[in-house]
Amino acid sequence: MTGFIEGEDRAQVTLFPEALDDYITEENSVRVIDVFIDNLDLSKLGFKTVSADTGRPGYHPSSLLKLFIYGYLNRIQSSRRLEREAGRNVELMWLMRRLVPDFKTIADFRKDNGKGIKNTCRTFINLCRQLNMFTDTLVTIDGSKFKAVNSKENNYTPKKLQFHIARVEKHIDDYLKQLATKDQEESRVADDRPIEEKIDGLKKKLAELKALEDEINHQPDNQVSTTDPDSRLLVTQGMSRSVCYNVQSAVDTKHHLIITHEVTNTVDRNQLCRIAKKAQDAVGKKDITVIADKGYFSGTDIKDTQDAGMTPLVPKGDTSGSNKKGIFNRSRFEYDAGRDRYICPAKQELPYRFTSVEKGQMLKRYWAYDPTCRVCSMKPQCSNSKQPRRITRWIHQNRLEKMEKQLSSMPESVLIRKQTVEHPFGTIKCWMGATHFLTRRFKNVSTEMSLHVLAYNLRRMMSILGPDKLIEAMAA
Ligand code: SF4
Repeated sequence: MTGFIEGEDRAQVTLFPEALDDYITEENSVRVIDVFIDNLDLSKLGFKTVSADTGRPGYHPSSLLKLFIYGYLNRIQSSRRLEREAGRNVELMWLMRRLVPDFKTIADFRKDNGKGIKNTCRTFINLCRQLNMFTDTLVTIDGSKFKAVNSKENNYTPKKLQFHIARVEKHIDDYLKQLATKDQEESRVADDRPIEEKIDGLKKKLAELKALEDEINHQPDNQVSTTDPDSRLLVTQGMSRSVCYNVQSAVDTKHHLIITHEVTNTVDRNQLCRIAKKAQDAVGKKDITVIADKGYFSGTDIKDTQDAGMTPLVPKGDTSGSNKKGIFNRSRFEYDAGRDRYICPAKQELPYRFTSVEKGQMLKRYWAYDPTCRVCSMKPQCSNSKQPRRITRWIHQNRLEKMEKQLSSMPESVLIRKQTVEHPFGTIKCWMGATHFLTRRFKNVSTEMSLHVLAYNLRRMMSILGPDKLIEAMAA
């Protein structure tokens, strides 16, 4: 071993033992966590800070909260691993003052303090706002699918359930036929169980499936997940499907901090205004610009966002399929606001005809005079029917046209959105590992997500300001 750097003798006795504090550098992230939590009023945030009068005193919530923040900052999310680390990790020994709670205490703290943890996450965003981190009023909103503790096999849709019911019924029929032949010896299969026992097992399974059928019919989206009932089968990247949660978040485009988030189990559509309003509250400004992808395009939602004082920028995807069918896209018809009529590609007028109400929306109808269309050379590209092409206009369509103009004056918004939202989601998913969430049900998954978001934002702020400046700001 000569010629190499040598370590210390393990049996060496030191005259003055080193203090735990000597192992923790001034810029260590545990010092940031320590100052942040020590400066919070935990009872105001919703944590129980009074110990029970009887029995052994419990751990103070600040110790367990510090433990969790450290864990989520260092990819240690499970309570068993946190218990192990508290007993051997010098940083945690310093942070926890050598307290080593057992995994059950750790897990229960996360389970029972969802409200407090969410408020802590919000408090950190308030701190960022006080530090003028949200000077830019540009925010992106996006959803990302995070895998739930529920396999695809344990998610049922009506079609899948019918398939399983038919399969089990067929098995039962087959066994009953075997029983009828009374040739028990020959009809036994590999596992050697009596046929009656197998039929009983299958009947039990059939009863379970029938009960699920009932449950599915009562769900608005016609699906049931059996391990985590709140999770849903959703389309993920590349049109593949996974049982997951759709986490909505608003991210500031300047520093990539997650301003607000919410765990949902539905698609992005109709979530824009609600999340944008939460972002308004978080940054303390009304007139923010909100960029989202075409999955958020919903006329009423966009109008509501505008009514709330914001500027939404959401591109519209082509859902009509007219291009594929080889007929004119609606965008080829120009609206003449002064005369309230459309001008078709053949430069003919489509005057207003009548207004109807569909699904609560007032829709105006326009079409050209029949004789004009009948002799038009563009008729095959205009409409598949014998009737003239009809154009429908929502009474608040002008709002969407205004947004289209704003979008075309800001073509870089697509790139800004992509660059902004990929950063936090990519980072958090990398920290989570292959399994994403560890807990089940909305309440617990939301607490987990708040811890991830808090850890992400803390890490971002440490890189932007540096640990020393952040500590200074927290302690001020
Ligand atoms: S068919 Fe009628 S609406 Fe269509 S382009 Fe011709 S004139 Fe215009």
